[in-house]
Amino acid sequence: MLIGVLGGGQLGMMLAQAGKPLGHTFRFLDPSPESPASSEGEFVQGDYSDTRTLETFGRGLDLVTWEFENVPSSAVQVLSRRLPCFPGIALLEIAQDRLSEKTAYREIGLAPARHVPISSRADLQDGVGAIGLPCVLKTRRMGYDGKGQFVLRGRDDVEAAWRELGRAGQLILEEFLEFEFETSLIACRGKGGGIVFYPMPMNTHKGGILRLSRVGAGAEIEPELEHQARAAMAKLMDGMDYVGVLTFEFFVVRRGEGRAIIANEMAPRVHNSGHWTIEGARTSQFANHCLAITKAELGSTALLEPAAAMINIVGEQPDPSAVKSIPGATLHLYGKQPRPGRKLGHMTVTGTAESVDRAIALSRGLPGVMLD
Ligand code: AMP
Repeated sequence: MLIGVLGGGQLGMMLAQAGKPLGHTFRFLDPSPESPASSEGEFVQGDYSDTRTLETFGRGLDLVTWEFENVPSSAVQVLSRRLPCFPGIALLEIAQDRLSEKTAYREIGLAPARHVPISSRADLQDGVGAIGLPCVLKTRRMGYDGKGQFVLRGRDDVEAAWRELGRAGQLILEEFLEFEFETSLIACRGKGGGIVFYPMPMNTHKGGILRLSRVGAGAEIEPELEHQARAAMAKLMDGMDYVGVLTFEFFVVRRGEGRAIIANEMAPRVHNSGHWTIEGARTSQFANHCLAITKAELGSTALLEPAAAMINIVGEQPDPSAVKSIPGATLHLYGKQPRPGRKLGHMTVTGTAESVDRAIALSRGLPGVMLD
């Protein structure tokens, strides 16, 4: 099939790398001429809101999917008049707004962080009183990798926070959570409603950007928490007849003697915390997404070795030979120009819990790797 992908970033690149061996070809649409996915298929450079661009992009496609969730839903609406679009516009629109995302989480029985919508400076003043300090002001739309966020630690921060983000108009104020670690759930729902789940990783962020995901031995999440997250995701996917990969992001917090999960964001697409699945799982998240949207049987999500980890390379690139000398490591570079805070690639390590620990230790200090 000829699959159209909205967005030409590294997620699109890895989708095509997984989909081509399955017999599919790809066409990408992205406003940027420097799109990592452009080398993996046909490439249309243009604006998502331009009708003629959408016409050119859509001609001859079998179906459409997307690799980032901030694609304007108007573009999906236009394309869906003529083409099947997966995973579907309904959850795309929900995931574009942090407030509706939190409402959707509540409806499926997951707790989000305490929050209030903010649309004026007076709201922010009142909101800080209601939520308490510290708290986080976030833009409701278009935030990613920690962008569009301001942590307020004292009442004096209201002025600066409003100056920085107030112009966005629609904001949300959340309690600041002292979490133990972050995690995510990635699942894929296929034809006939079958769902496959990947094991939940332990995720580490620095500066709002994912740096490390660890799964399997040495990084197990309590089975009750995994079960709770899976049940909620299945409820949402079934209720929406969702097709493809979906990701939920969580904070894991201490509750009495045990732990609880607090739902943060959702992404109706393949996800950075699932890159380890390329080398670490029997079927990668990218292959399963392609299998789902083309109505083929989904593949097993089982780990190939007891443990795996993914380390992001951000802002600057290490010498590839230094990465390759780490036992069990595979390097992925996205061909992007280095820039502070930009994801340029990642490395995956697989093995035993001990060998993955050793590989993570060896990666510390490499350019682009920030784990502490
Ligand atoms: P987000 O864009 O909401 O995924 O936020 C990016 C990162 O900022 C998260 O992965 C956390 O590391 C941190 N963060 C976001 N919201 C909160 C919060 N309410 N409490 C503590 N840390 C947060």
